[in-house]
Amino acid sequence: MISQPSRTQSSSSWYTGRKLFILCLLIASIFPIQIVPSAERQRPGADGQFSGKQGEILWVEVPVSDSQADVKGIFLKRKIPFFRLNEHAFAGLVGIDMEDPQGEQELSVQVHSEGGTQHFSYAILIIKENYTIQELTLPKNKVDLDSKTLKRVKAEQQELAGAFHRISDSPLWDGPFLEPVAGKITGVFGSRRVINGQPRRPHTGEDIAAPTGTPVLAINTGTVVLAVDHFFSGKGIILDHGLGLFSMYFHLSEIDVQHGQSVQKGEAIGKVGASGRATGPHLHWGIRLNGSRVNPFALTSLPFKG
Ligand SMILES: [Zn+2]
Repeated sequence: MISQPSRTQSSSSWYTGRKLFILCLLIASIFPIQIVPSAERQRPGADGQFSGKQGEILWVEVPVSDSQADVKGIFLKRKIPFFRLNEHAFAGLVGIDMEDPQGEQELSVQVHSEGGTQHFSYAILIIKENYTIQELTLPKNKVDLDSKTLKRVKAEQQELAGAFHRISDSPLWDGPFLEPVAGKITGVFGSRRVINGQPRRPHTGEDIAAPTGTPVLAINTGTVVLAVDHFFSGKGIILDHGLGLFSMYFHLSEIDVQHGQSVQKGEAIGKVGASGRATGPHLHWGIRLNGSRVNPFALTSLPFKG
C-alpha cells in the first residue's frame, strides 16, 4: 500500500492560480489515499505512480474525519460509488476495462463533508495487458446469424445491458469473493477470438470447464437481476452485489433461482451446462463493475479484511 497521491489538485485550481494549487498539495499531504491493485505485481513503483493493468480492479481507500462525510469518484467518465469502510475511511472499487486506453488517466475523488466539498485528482497509469488469441470452430448457424436470430440477439443484448442499470447505494456483498466453480480454465479473459476464421469480439469473462450438473455458487451475497435463456449465453444468471458490481454465470444446464431473489455467498444458484453457444460444458463467469469489463479473478484477490 502506498499513501502518497501521485498528482493532486483541486478541480477549480485552474482559475485561482498557484496559491490554491500549493494549498491543495498541503491538503493532499494530510489527506493521503491508498490505492491497492488487485494483482500484487501491479503495485506502484518507486516513483509513487499508481498503476493497474487492463482488466484489473483498484481498491481505493479515502480517509475521512467527518461522520457525515460522503465520497464519490469518476474514472474515465464512469461514476465510482464509495462505501464507508470504517469510522475513518471510505473505500471504492475502480474497474479498469479490458479495452481502456493505456497510459495515464485521471481518477477524480470528491469528499463531501460539513465543511464543504474537496476535489482531488490522482493519476493512474493503465498498463496494456497482452491478451492471447483463441481460435474456435463452431456450427455455421451459431456464427452467421439469419435475420430472425439477429433480431433476437439484439433484443437479448439490450436485456443484458438493462440489468446493469440498477446501482444500489450500498454494498450487498459480505467480505471476500469466492470462485463459482472449480475447474480448468478453457477460455481466458480478454482473449481475442477468431471464430471459424473470422476475428470476433474479445472474450469478456473466464470459461471454467466442469462436468454438466456441477453446482455453480454465488460468488457473494446479492440479488438476482436476470435469470434468462439467451441465444449466445444460454441459460444465464446475473447477480447484483451493490455499488454497480454484477456477476454473470452463463451456459448453465439449470437455473435454480428466480428474478428478484436474494442469494447468500456460496449458495448454489444453478448447474454447469453447455446451453447457448458453447463447445462443451463449462461456466462462463463474467464481472461488470460500474460499466467496466474486468477479470473475475481480480475480484477474488481484493484486500478484503475477514
Ligand atoms: Zn466464455
